[in-house]
Amino acid sequence: MKKLIYLDNAATTKTAPEVVEAMLPYFSEKFGNPSSVYSFASGNKEVISEHRDVIASVLGAKSNEIYFTAGGSESDNWALKAAAEAYADKGNHIITTKIEHHAILHTAEYLEKRGFEVTYLDVDEDGKIRLDELKKAIRPTTILISVMFANNEIGTIEPVREIGEIAHEHGILFHTDAVQAFGQVPIDVDECHIDMLSASGHKLNGPKGIGFLYIRKGVKIHSFVHGGAQERKRRAGTENVPGIVGLGTAVKRAAKTMEERTEKERGLRDYLIGRVLKEIPYCRLNGHQTDRLPNNANFSFRFVEGEALLIMLDGKGICGSSGSACTSGSLDPSHVLLAIGLPHEIAHGSLRLTLSEETTKEDLDYVVDSLKEILGTLRNMSPLYEDFIKKANK
Ligand SMILES: *Cc1c(COP(=O)(O)O)cnc(C)c1O
Repeated sequence: MKKLIYLDNAATTKTAPEVVEAMLPYFSEKFGNPSSVYSFASGNKEVISEHRDVIASVLGAKSNEIYFTAGGSESDNWALKAAAEAYADKGNHIITTKIEHHAILHTAEYLEKRGFEVTYLDVDEDGKIRLDELKKAIRPTTILISVMFANNEIGTIEPVREIGEIAHEHGILFHTDAVQAFGQVPIDVDECHIDMLSASGHKLNGPKGIGFLYIRKGVKIHSFVHGGAQERKRRAGTENVPGIVGLGTAVKRAAKTMEERTEKERGLRDYLIGRVLKEIPYCRLNGHQTDRLPNNANFSFRFVEGEALLIMLDGKGICGSSGSACTSGSLDPSHVLLAIGLPHEIAHGSLRLTLSEETTKEDLDYVVDSLKEILGTLRNMSPLYEDFIKKANK
């Protein structure tokens, strides 16, 4: 088989074999609808509660605060739209950031068209919001603050506990998109004053198309999908039983392996970053040096196009990304890289590599060696680089 080095775990992860195994019976012999009365099917109700309990306990939440959804995007949509609607009598102002995932940004834009006012906070050069700017942005009409736990492109972890404290001091709801952080960083919803939290199965070695929204008890958020009484009448539809079993199994596994796994990934990530910064000229690391996801490295290389880099890496069996998976179809540079202040031409030459528990030092050595070779080739073809070298040699 051709070499495959998968370093795009922020886009999606491999479903763990034990997760697949746990799911399989729910497609075949245990296919029943959990709402049915006969015991053959109704047993699936308990199975769902068991997995709900697992997820709640990992977050320090109560089981009846976990609502299954079809993934991170749905959870983000639900949190923003339904909270906006439910609290519209209190105010019409929402605060978020310029570096959110499009599931948040596009939902916020949708709400703006419907009369809500949205403040998009700037971030500093490391990708963190400034708490004094958050405080200044708060108005008497602010009903919701939504700030991601960790950024999917540059890996920066936001000061979530402080944000939650500020939100609660002002009686404002706090939502966090924790799709990247959940499973990689310990999260306690009480400690961080989180009212709503989005997460997704396929970012933590679970299946695609399943996620959840944590909604703190007492938050008056409206139903998102109308229909049957599933998910305490807030999200109708026959439960995705195999998906829920897969998600619960993945969450349990991620919690159990977190310490060891992230320590190993952090070490390898720093090895990768160290080699790249030392051995490749005209490059920089994007994102916060230490407050970053254990598996994330994001670089900008001058005088190259990220797309060309990705294609040449692909030729060597290496999977990376030059922005978020959702934007790589477009030619605009990533909104996150622009928000941290990179000029367009530098943002264009960016590469995100996100490790998994299976990544080895040998993989990374091969990647850095390949990168050096590819960057040499690309830069030699670049008129900008030629100009730059001529000027430098004058
Ligand atoms: C992947 C991702 C999402 C979307 O999750 P899906 O399950 O793919 O819908 C939302 N937010 C962040 C930060 C993500 O990384």
